[in-house]
Amino acid sequence: MTPIFFKRAYFRPDDYQKTVFDVDYDHLRKIGVDVLFIDVDNTLVSYDETIPGSRTLELLDGLKKSGFRVILISNNHEPRVRTFADACGLPFVHGAKKPFRCGFRRAEALAGGPDPSRVAVLGDQFMTDVYGGKRMGYRVVVVDAIKRKTEKWYTKLNRRIERLALADLHRSDPDFYDGLHLGEKR
Ligand SMILES: [Mg+2]
Repeated sequence: MTPIFFKRAYFRPDDYQKTVFDVDYDHLRKIGVDVLFIDVDNTLVSYDETIPGSRTLELLDGLKKSGFRVILISNNHEPRVRTFADACGLPFVHGAKKPFRCGFRRAEALAGGPDPSRVAVLGDQFMTDVYGGKRMGYRVVVVDAIKRKTEKWYTKLNRRIERLALADLHRSDPDFYDGLHLGEKR
């Protein structure tokens, strides 16, 4: 059962894909999304790497060129996020405290205060990216974690709650759960 202090509605992503390379960005543009808040750790890079791979750089450059405003948003500390963001040439929010609103508000300020309907969050965690993004009223695309092995203890704890939330979603709305293939979420 989902712990009662969590709202079920905020655990419902709009889409689930294996990686950031599988996301349908054209579709996002078509439905009016032009701002992307992208998580860093295990969404764009594993915890044991510090800079983006060439394919990731290519993707981010392509997104910028196709008109997306891209902002990196991470709960991690400044040196790590800055190193990664500088290598990508992207603005960033570090210490975002997702799922709390403060970091998302900082990202909104960097994006020029877009309407929430224009924003999509890409991230690998239900507890931080999905829950936080949905309570802000954004569209959320959840992806698999790149590498779970090197996650820290608090992320492992979040994963246990994520399992409970996913099991609850499976029970309460099996059509939605199966429709997004959330049974395959890693
Ligand atoms: Mg992450």
